[in-house]
This record gives sequence, C-alpha cells and structure tokens, in this order.
Amino acid sequence: MLGAIEAGGTKFVCAVGDEKGTINDRIQIPTTVPEETIPKVIDFFKQHPIDAIGIGSFGPIDVNQESHTYGFITSTPKPGWRDYPFVQTLTAAFSVPVGFNTDVNAAALGEVTLGAAKGLDSCLYITVGTGIGAGAIVQGKLLQGLSHPEMGHILVRRHPDDEYKGRCPYHHDCLEGLASGPAIEERWGDKGMNLVDSAKVWELEGYYLAQALMQYVLILSPKKIIVGGGVMHQKQVFPYIYRYLQEFVNHYVVLPDLSEYIVNPGLGDDAGIKGALILAHQELEKA
Ligand code: ADP
Ligand code: ZN
Repeated sequence: MLGAIEAGGTKFVCAVGDEKGTINDRIQIPTTVPEETIPKVIDFFKQHPIDAIGIGSFGPIDVNQESHTYGFITSTPKPGWRDYPFVQTLTAAFSVPVGFNTDVNAAALGEVTLGAAKGLDSCLYITVGTGIGAGAIVQGKLLQGLSHPEMGHILVRRHPDDEYKGRCPYHHDCLEGLASGPAIEERWGDKGMNLVDSAKVWELEGYYLAQALMQYVLILSPKKIIVGGGVMHQKQVFPYIYRYLQEFVNHYVVLPDLSEYIVNPGLGDDAGIKGALILAHQELEKA
C-alpha cells in the first residue's frame, strides 16, 4: 500500500492506493499552519499500513538530495511553512521511504504514466490556478537541474493594450503575475468564473499562455502539453491559445494538431494525487 500527499496552498489531499492509480481511501485537510495540518495528515496514514509515501508539494521546495535542506519547503510566503522540513517530519513518523517533488512534477508524472501522455517519454504539465507552474518529463524522467523548474515565472511580452501592473510579488508582470486566477480577478474586477461571456478576458489569457507554451515548445519540445488548474476549466481559452500559438510559431516548427497536442488532464483533478502515488512507488523501488 502506498501513501500520497498533494500539498496545496489551500488544501492537502491525502490518499492511499497503488501505482496503477487505484485509490482506496482519501481525505482533504485545509492548509492552515503545519502544527495543525500535519498531525491530521499523520493521523490519516496511521490508519493504513503504508510502505512508502509520495509528496507533491507547493513550493518552492528543496529537491536536491545533496543539500542539507533537502525535503524542505523553502521560500514560500505562506505563514508557518517557510523552511519547513516536510520529508523529515514524515520519515520520523513512519520510517518508510518518502518521495518528494513539486505538485506540478507529480502531476506530470501522473499524466505520463496513467493519463493524457500515457505511453510517451515526454510531456509538459502546466497548471493555471492561484499560481502558475509547470513540470516536464524529458526522455522519460522528471526534468531537474540545480533545482526544480519554475516555469510559471518566465517573462512574457505584454499586450500593448494591457495596463494591468501584474501581481507576482517577486516580478510583477511575469507570466504568473499577468495570467493567474488572482491576476484575472484583479485586472477585470471579478473572478474568472463570473467572466465567462467576456471574450476579451479569455483572448488576453490565451495571448499570454500561448507565449509561454511557445517557449516551452521551443526549449523542451514536449510530445504532449497538458493544461490543468481552475482557470483552464474555461474551455473558451483553448481556441485563443491555439490561434496565438500558431501565429507566434508561424510554421517555424511543425506541431501536431493543436486540439490533440494541448489538452486538459486525462486524470482530471486527480493528476497530482495519482502522480504522488507513483512518486511513492519510485521511492520504494529505489529503497
Ligand atoms: P489552486 O491553484 O489553489 O490549487 P485552482 O486550480 O482551483 O486551485 O485555482 C484557483 C484559481 O482559479 C482562483 O483564482 C479561481 O478564481 C480560479 N478558478 C477556479 N475555478 C475556475 C473556473 N471554473 N473558471 C475560471 N477561474 C477559475
Ligand atoms: Zn513571478
């Protein structure tokens, strides 16, 4: 039996199951402060005989196994979670192998193993929600270098008519600053889900996301692009993404049919938690 944690900024999802994506039990816990949230996580797993745990976490996190802060959540502005020893806390409670990666890397792993990119050796998973982040599988493995990628914070070219300042606390008008759910809400004065009929909202969103996807395509050349997160429930963004991506790429590289190339997650909202089960399995195999 494997344990999985999808640690998000608003909620933790915990599940037990197997590497085929079967989930036998799951719970949701609000993300407050570690002293409150983590004991509930531990209580849940104490009810199940688990052999390993996989964590897909909000970040930034330290995934460098050589580092003395490996397994920590690092520079998050979220109160109480900065410099939190996530892996160490679970290892102390369960004495089982613990796999640790970002939420989007876990989702990418879930999608390449069981979802929309099943059978491929590369894919990109991007979430557009409270924040923007992406993870990539390259040559069958999660892409990692000095640390994990932070693809949500790339710079994009501003639309000439867009005067919104952007809301990334670090970069103001990076991709996340201009195109996250909270950026949409602040720019247009209402939540995305209440702006369904406003075409210019979704055209601008597609304009920024297409720029980002162009860069990911040119740098990583993924075989499939999976777009998840709350904002991407707005299906009307997709035609704008396709149109602007075609326009920006301008036939320089040959892309597959975009409606099959850029898709919603095959695992729906379970990409992250099922990916965390696979992280747990990988860690068990290593042990
Ligand atoms: P999180 O990123 O916190 O895990 P979500 O992916 O649901 O959660 O992202 C939340 C953000 O996405 C909020 O800014 C919210 O307004 C926006 N959002 C959620 N659902 C929708 C929707 N159906 N349409 C447009 N925006 C949405
Ligand atoms: Zn940023």
